[in-house]
Amino acid sequence: MNIHEYQAKALLKSFSAPVSDGHMALNAREAEAAAKMLPGPLWVVKAQIHAGGRGKGHFKEERAGEAGGVRLARSVTEAREMANQMLGSTLVTKQTGEDGKQVQRVYIEDGADIERELYLSLLVDRATSRVAFVCSTEGGMDIEGVAAETPEKIHTIHVDPAAGYSAYVGRRIAAALDLDGDLLKQCVKLMGALYTAFVEKDMALLEINPLIVTRSGKLHVLDAKIGFDDNALYRHPDVVELRDLTEEDPKEIEASKYDLSYVALDGDIGCMVNGAGLAMSTMDIIKLYGAEPANFLDVGGGATEEKVAAAFKIITSDPKVKGILINIFGGIMKCDTIAEGVIAAVKEVGLSVPLVVRLEGTNVEKGKKIIAESGLDVIPADDLDDAAQKIVKAVKG
Ligand code: GDP
Ligand code: MG
Repeated sequence: MNIHEYQAKALLKSFSAPVSDGHMALNAREAEAAAKMLPGPLWVVKAQIHAGGRGKGHFKEERAGEAGGVRLARSVTEAREMANQMLGSTLVTKQTGEDGKQVQRVYIEDGADIERELYLSLLVDRATSRVAFVCSTEGGMDIEGVAAETPEKIHTIHVDPAAGYSAYVGRRIAAALDLDGDLLKQCVKLMGALYTAFVEKDMALLEINPLIVTRSGKLHVLDAKIGFDDNALYRHPDVVELRDLTEEDPKEIEASKYDLSYVALDGDIGCMVNGAGLAMSTMDIIKLYGAEPANFLDVGGGATEEKVAAAFKIITSDPKVKGILINIFGGIMKCDTIAEGVIAAVKEVGLSVPLVVRLEGTNVEKGKKIIAESGLDVIPADDLDDAAQKIVKAVKG
């Protein structure tokens, strides 16, 4: 689960990280009031969407002007006008895709005087099973470019989970970021605060780009992106409250209600599979036969008839889907249960695209029989290869 920049900053502030003062606004009037509460002479108006690259982004609508989603204002009136232009407009950045995202909230912040822009992030490094700090002196711009062109400028510093964070880790980060004297001290303290926040809140990613050194010699968090580990949300009701459903795919929201693991993708073959491994192989084999999956969907080991029906509805609600492949191994979940679920769902929502069903495992004969006798237009398949070929052929002809 991701949150907005202004929420991330409030959270980091509660761990005593230095952030600018600011206020979120939903309309121009609120933006003006927010700007008035800040001292000036510089205000920053920032579009709040769950995507980065806002500064270099552009708006689709002419009324939003030429500039991107992060703008510097010299007066309250200017801040209000910028907020007014952004709100309701569609911001397109490298991370939003062509469709862009509609801006529904802006953040009005006290402008900072920047001397240097650094890059810093914390993440869970799966290869070492440790929390890693990734940092670079080349902050502010796109870090993927730095990683591709000058990888030696990116430093990774791991934290031993048994020892936890120590000043030693902070000093290594400071060295990598060319920070010394009082800035080194600030760095050791700030990295400790960020590490504590990361671990206590079960974050998956905490990215600060840029982390800045101000002209008055202060280390300061200028941008913040936080992603939380969904599997740990149950123990953070305060974090769940920050969720902004308008930023999420409605199909993914629906899937989470039924505890289905669903990720929307760009292809045209909808997949319903049980088990993440089998779902991955199903996607692979669809690609092997020349088509693209429209989604990843794992209904789980113990899915009920109701869950299967919900999954089917989510897939068919996607207008991109030109065909559906159901590939289920009946272990805990029996094949006849799946068959009943599929039929119930097809009867309820109707079927306007080809559907291939491949069942294997417990009660497979019973399941196949239920489908064959249902009178529905379902293409049966015997194995994974057969199933993938049949659905690709049905969609592509
Ligand atoms: P992003 O483009 O979505 O990553 O948004 P950021 O919050 O990182 O802002 C983009 C850029 O705007 C930063 O790299 C800064 O150069 C600039 N910027 C953001 N806030 C301020 C500020 O308070 N003062 C000044 N002078 N520039 C800022
Ligand atoms: Mg940024």
